[in-house]
Amino acid sequence: MKLIGLIGGMSWESTVTYYQVVNNVIKDQLGELHSAKCLLYSVDFHEIEKCQSTGNWEKSAQILSEAAQSLEKAGAEFIVICTNTMHKVANQIQEAINIPILHIADVTAQELKKSCINKVALLGTKYTMEQDFYKSKLIENGIDVLIPDAEDINLINTIIYDELCLGIISEHSKQIYLNIINKLAKQGAQGTILGCTEIGLLIQQKDTKIPLFDTTLIHGEQAALYSIGYKL
Ligand code: GLU
Repeated sequence: MKLIGLIGGMSWESTVTYYQVVNNVIKDQLGELHSAKCLLYSVDFHEIEKCQSTGNWEKSAQILSEAAQSLEKAGAEFIVICTNTMHKVANQIQEAINIPILHIADVTAQELKKSCINKVALLGTKYTMEQDFYKSKLIENGIDVLIPDAEDINLINTIIYDELCLGIISEHSKQIYLNIINKLAKQGAQGTILGCTEIGLLIQQKDTKIPLFDTTLIHGEQAALYSIGYKL
């Protein structure tokens, strides 16, 4: 079994889910008392968020590269960055290490293709929804991406940083998300990517008939499968 190197803490609320998923998948796959071999480097999210909101992506790349190097030195055989947004600097992190990064948008695109989805809604932070670093991975795989309008982008983003990353789960915010998912489905989205690792804390598949692709569950599952030799 390969040793997984998790870079977490962005936020730690969702890193908890990653830890549960990798262990559950290994237990399901291998049975008995098997569990995932992993290392967790959990950063101070306050520092990372300051880099994001001031546009200092270079500094965030440096912090996460150092985390990845520490994990590599400690024996990790591949890296899982436990956030969608910080994949904005995945290339810089990759250049700093000699082990592969399991990219969250790559594994999500594979999952969409398995479900024959070619037009999908993307919910996430404003960086993930508005910028190209994430959407381009989906488009490269032949998947059209719909994002909410400016007002809804703002609502989704505010709920992520002011509530979900702080562990606040509200029924009102859940309804806001579900309304936005419905609007995008009416515009032709065949499914919705929960492209922020905290959104699954707020909404799950049981809340809607529209197919949801929860990136935390997909990424965690693929990390566990990769660690036991499955090819992506
Ligand atoms: N966890 C979130 C994501 O998946 C947002 C927090 C962050 O900015 O990293 O994008």
